[in-house]
Amino acid sequence: MTEAQLAGTEQLLERVVSKEEAKEAIKTLLRYIGEDTGREGLLDTPRRVIESYKEFFAGYEQNPNEILSTTFKEVGNYDEVVLLKDITFTSHCEHHMVPFIGVAHVAYIPRNKVVGISKLARLVDAFARRLQIQERMTVDIAQTIADVLDPKGVAVIIKAKHQCMTTRGVGKPNSDTVTSCMRGLFREDSKSRAELMQLLA
Ligand SMILES: [Zn+2]
Repeated sequence: MTEAQLAGTEQLLERVVSKEEAKEAIKTLLRYIGEDTGREGLLDTPRRVIESYKEFFAGYEQNPNEILSTTFKEVGNYDEVVLLKDITFTSHCEHHMVPFIGVAHVAYIPRNKVVGISKLARLVDAFARRLQIQERMTVDIAQTIADVLDPKGVAVIIKAKHQCMTTRGVGKPNSDTVTSCMRGLFREDSKSRAELMQLLA
């Protein structure tokens, strides 16, 4: 993330709750788990925690539609699948505020607009860097692409490990959660869908 993006996030977070208030809240949590907030190793922890929150939750500062706003109409009659595979991301589940980490595959079939391929990765991050549930994140990424690019088809498949399941709760360290959202040709046309599955295999 650039300095400017970090500064922007900082400003937004400051508007809602001051840094001092946020640090106090972290100190309260430390006391809640039985820690001594005055011991040396923890003195700077509240500051570090809220600094890391700026990155984890930077997505609130980003407008997903804007990320896709620069499009190219010269697509050279390309009307096949565009797929960006294995986009790694870290998000946080909104139920426990612990990470879920995984990969997203994002595909679309252009109608008359394409975007720079890196924008698809940035779009995933804009949604991942918020409190999320995987199902909503999957649909929101697909919907944004559908809204802005008006493609013939869009597909988003996300596979992730949720630390609220792997490190606590039911404690299943190897379980993956897979979600998908298919629109347009990927939903209606079995050939398009089969082609996508082949590219993903
Ligand atoms: Zn959770």
